[in-house]
Amino acid sequence: MSDLENKVVLTVATTGAWPSKNENPNVPLQPREIADEVYACWKAGASVAHIHVRDDEGKASMSYEKFVETLEYIRATDCKIVLNTTTSGGIGLTDEIRMKPFMGLRPEMASYDCGTMNWMHTTVFENSPKFLEKLGLAMQNCNVKPEIEIFDAGMIYNALYYLKQGVLKAPLHFQFCLGTPGGMAATVENLVFLKSLIPVGSTWSAFGVGKGHMPILYATLALGGHIRIGMEDNVYYSKGVLAESNVQFVLRAKRIIEEIGKSVATPDEARQILGV
Ligand code: ZN
Repeated sequence: MSDLENKVVLTVATTGAWPSKNENPNVPLQPREIADEVYACWKAGASVAHIHVRDDEGKASMSYEKFVETLEYIRATDCKIVLNTTTSGGIGLTDEIRMKPFMGLRPEMASYDCGTMNWMHTTVFENSPKFLEKLGLAMQNCNVKPEIEIFDAGMIYNALYYLKQGVLKAPLHFQFCLGTPGGMAATVENLVFLKSLIPVGSTWSAFGVGKGHMPILYATLALGGHIRIGMEDNVYYSKGVLAESNVQFVLRAKRIIEEIGKSVATPDEARQILGV
C-alpha cells in the first residue's frame, strides 16, 4: 500500500449540469463530445471521470438514453478511466430518474449529495432523507461507491448518521465542493475544517469554483487529499481566460502534483485507493 501514499486521484468533471456553450463553447455537452473529452483526459492522465449529460438543447438532464449513449462510446474504447455518474443532473427530478443511470449502467462510482441546500440563491437542491436512504442502499446493492459530495459542514454530519444507520459503508469517500453560491466558500480555512470532521480512514477530494480554484487545489495537495478539476466547476482556465478543453486542466493538475513530488494515480491505483 505504501506506494499508493504518494498517488493523487485526479477526477475530471467535464460537463456538469449548468455550464453552457455561451459561457464557454468548449464545454462538451453531447454524448460523442463528452466521450471524446473523457478519452482525451484519460490519455492525459486523469484517473476518474465524473459524468453528466444534457438534453438535445444542451440543458441539464438525467436522460437515461444520453447516459447509455455516453457510456457506450467510452466503453467501446480502450479507456480504463473509473466512471462516476451523477445522481444530480437537474432540479425537481424524481428519485427514480436520478437513480436509473447508475442502477442500469453500473459505473464504479456515483455522486451522493448528502443534504438539501438553497442552490445559487435561486432554487432548492433537494436531497431528502427518504431519497438519501434509498440512494445509499441502492448503491450498496449495485456495488457502486458513493462519492459523498459536501457543500457545507452539516452534510458531513448527515453522512456520519447514514454511516451509523448502515445506509453508507466505511470507508467513506468525500468530495468537498467549495465556492458554489449557497454552499461554503472556497477558502483554505473551510477546507481544513471540513477535513477535520471526516472519520479516520476516509478518503477525500476537493475542488473550488471560480477564484478559489487554485488555492483549493494547492491546499488539498498540501493536506494529502485528492483533486477534482474540469469545466463543471470552472469554465475559465485563469482570470479572464476561457478554458480550451478539460485536458488543459488535467495537464496543469498533473504538473502541480508532480512538482510536489507526488504522481497522479492510474485508474487501477485509484480503484485501490477508493476501494471500488
Ligand atoms: Zn456533478
